Amino acid sequence: MPFDVVIHGGEVIHPAQNLRARRDVGIVDGRIAALEPALPLDNAREVVDASGKLVTAGLIDMHTHAFVGTDLGVDMDKIGPQTGTTTVVDTGSAGAHTFEAFRRFVIAPATIRILPFLNISSIGIISMLLAGELENIRYCNVEEALRCVGTHRDLIQGIKVRASGNVVGANGVVPVDLARAAAERVGRPMMVHIGPTPPDLADILLRMRPGDILTHCFTGHAQGPLDARGSIRRELLAAREHGVIMDIGHGMGSLSFEVAARMLEQGFKPDTISTDLHAYSYPHPVHDLPTTLSKFMALGLSLTEVITAATCRPAAILGLQDQIGSLRVGMNADVAVFALEEGTFEFVDSYGNTLAGSRRLVNTLTIKDGRVWRSQ
Ligand SMILES: [Zn+2]
Repeated sequence: MPFDVVIHGGEVIHPAQNLRARRDVGIVDGRIAALEPALPLDNAREVVDASGKLVTAGLIDMHTHAFVGTDLGVDMDKIGPQTGTTTVVDTGSAGAHTFEAFRRFVIAPATIRILPFLNISSIGIISMLLAGELENIRYCNVEEALRCVGTHRDLIQGIKVRASGNVVGANGVVPVDLARAAAERVGRPMMVHIGPTPPDLADILLRMRPGDILTHCFTGHAQGPLDARGSIRRELLAAREHGVIMDIGHGMGSLSFEVAARMLEQGFKPDTISTDLHAYSYPHPVHDLPTTLSKFMALGLSLTEVITAATCRPAAILGLQDQIGSLRVGMNADVAVFALEEGTFEFVDSYGNTLAGSRRLVNTLTIKDGRVWRSQ
């Protein structure tokens, strides 16, 4: 079979099939056509030499802000090809009244795959000067959200609500109730951001259902995931037990190395590791997704665990396990090549604390839908 591209000689990390071995990846017509110990190279149109490198499915970032033209938005088409990221979830940058512009002028022309959650506030996150898109509860309109999901059902993944004091103002947990109602009626998950209280984490978790996603789960804000003695809060353990998904969402205020170390010590590993990249977290302190994954290796997770948390697991959570997040034959040919650099590296969390690590993932090549994707 003549391949369009063969990625040759790399060490494939493919947690969906429990595989970590030297493999060639063959691509035809934008799909993975072969994953074998050795493929013929003679009639391949393009051969990528990946010897000495790691090869994974294109990374999936579960928390970003990709709506360029709003205060938070960053151009993920510039960041994606340099970081191995081929899919990003946009977490509520747009609401019902701004979604059409997001879709038409950003999502549709983008090379990167942008999968949006709709903000329960109809204005979305327009400006961080007044962070609170939920301070005026009249913007938080379930009917408008339902109408928007009805029009864009092919694209919208779920409903986002930012349930922190700086966003909800005096409205407490009411926006979470409204987001829950909207998510219920459209049959999609709700993603909840936590931060400064109120509302209290226990009140938020009570309203979450299996398949809902809690983002910023390792936040260092007061009354976060740990109780006063440093133990994981019971409500959080119960929510996870119940099927609530735990996402990192690093961002400018939501990853504390100290909290992370305590959580991991007690056996609580995140389901998905994401960046919360936006105009105030990029490049500092997040940098990018491979760096965020490297921070979690420095915290003690294995290479396979961090790759899982940014490929096949987010794909499964989104219900897209048959399209992305894996190098199985027939999947979309989204592939990332990384150098695993060894040395002494200093990583920084959202609060300026540092952590030394000995390994760092650095992207060297990205393929999206079967095409080698390089930015200008
Ligand atoms: Zn965010």
